[in-house]
Amino acid sequence: MAGDPKEPRRRAGATSPLAGGERPHATPARLLALRLLRRLRPEAEDGPPLAEILDHADLSAADRRLLHALYLAVCRQRPWLDHCLAPLVARPWAEVEPKVQDILRLGAAQLLCMERIPPHAAVSESVALCHAAHVDRAAGLVNAVLRRLATTPPAPPDPAGAAGIALTCGMPDWLVARFVARAGEVEARAWLTALNTAPTTAVRLNPLRGAPEAIRAALVAAGAGVQPAPLGRDAVVITGASRLADLPGVSDGRVYLQDPASQWVAEGVDPRPGERILDACAAPGGKASHLAALLHNHGEVVAVELDPGRAKRLRANLQRLGATCVQVVEADVAALGAAETFDRILLDAPCTGLGILSRHPEIRWRRDAAMIAAAQGLQLRLLQSVANHLRPGGTLVYATCSTEPEEGEEVIARFLAGHPAFQPAPLATVPAPVAEVGPAQYRTLPHRADLDAFFVARLRRG
Ligand code: SAM
Repeated sequence: MAGDPKEPRRRAGATSPLAGGERPHATPARLLALRLLRRLRPEAEDGPPLAEILDHADLSAADRRLLHALYLAVCRQRPWLDHCLAPLVARPWAEVEPKVQDILRLGAAQLLCMERIPPHAAVSESVALCHAAHVDRAAGLVNAVLRRLATTPPAPPDPAGAAGIALTCGMPDWLVARFVARAGEVEARAWLTALNTAPTTAVRLNPLRGAPEAIRAALVAAGAGVQPAPLGRDAVVITGASRLADLPGVSDGRVYLQDPASQWVAEGVDPRPGERILDACAAPGGKASHLAALLHNHGEVVAVELDPGRAKRLRANLQRLGATCVQVVEADVAALGAAETFDRILLDAPCTGLGILSRHPEIRWRRDAAMIAAAQGLQLRLLQSVANHLRPGGTLVYATCSTEPEEGEEVIARFLAGHPAFQPAPLATVPAPVAEVGPAQYRTLPHRADLDAFFVARLRRG
């Protein structure tokens, strides 16, 4: 963490935008936003979703809203904010200390993206943040840069070309270059705009805990709006709820937060009651519990998870959701006993997560092309390993929440080249916000409907 909240010290000689000897102090929302921005650094680990952090933060509703808005503005507008700030700093921007960069970004976000924060407050709060975060020496720089930004607002970004897409869609240059190279500027802009847009709150109504109509009625009675979702039989979109945790059904497993595209993946497995299913990479359990629901708990789901912390969360979720036919195995799925066979297998493989940027906006700042190549190596090894456990005539579904062909189409092509017993197993019907991108290979389309971008391939063993 960047430093404890404390009464700031004012350095002698530091310039302050405040008159009359007031002592600046950072608001808890800004201080927590600054700490959270560490999640954007390349070395950071993937943390819990922002919604979860907000639900558990000890903040007033107004502070929670401010924290949310600040964090998202910096995640989603970072290229534009840096573009505006860099010319105002004498040193090259890359040489500015990361924590000071983040304080400047937060200040610029308040000045450029939030109409309700007065400029003087944005500047003075940013100076206060320097003291609270123990970078007192940067207070003068932050004050001077943000004052200049407040008095001379920058021209809007030029949207033309790949550089314009990066600025207007808030994406790193390397990722924009990939999209433009494979799909052209128009399509790249459409995808990246969608992936940079706030997602709706979609949930799955869990029939293992109640009739979907009754669950829906409870949500409506609590004042939530319930709209149809673009994909997923039990998916609905919730509107008008400030804290998901407060909705009826969330704590007792009637309602599970899950994107409709993710829900569609388990439907693609098409499990039949009585069957034995392998969920090869199972935590936190959205799809394992969904498979149990599709089986009406009649059958068996073996849910394998390597990471002990995530396995614990998987068990807790399965218990809350009433998924009694799921057996959790805490292990490397590649070490599964040779005699284990399954009617159907879901491999929801670890991936770069570049398809869930609307929900996890920080991910884009922690990925690079080398990680995509490394992910493919792991995905192919896992696919080759789990395929040995599919019975003849059985179905294997491979999925990732990545936009990148290396983690989707290329994995399947390489796998099929070495496994002639497996053939594509196409769906009878393909719903509208999904494109068939290869034989029995599908992509959910975030620019057609409010969805995460998943890749799904269905294979049958002959
Ligand atoms: N299917 C899950 C759901 O719907 O909630 C999400 C799965 S997530 C994309 C991938 C998971 O695979 C992570 O929890 C990761 O820890 C786990 N994992 C990675 N390598 C594994 C391995 N060799 N064996 C089992 N699990 C693994």
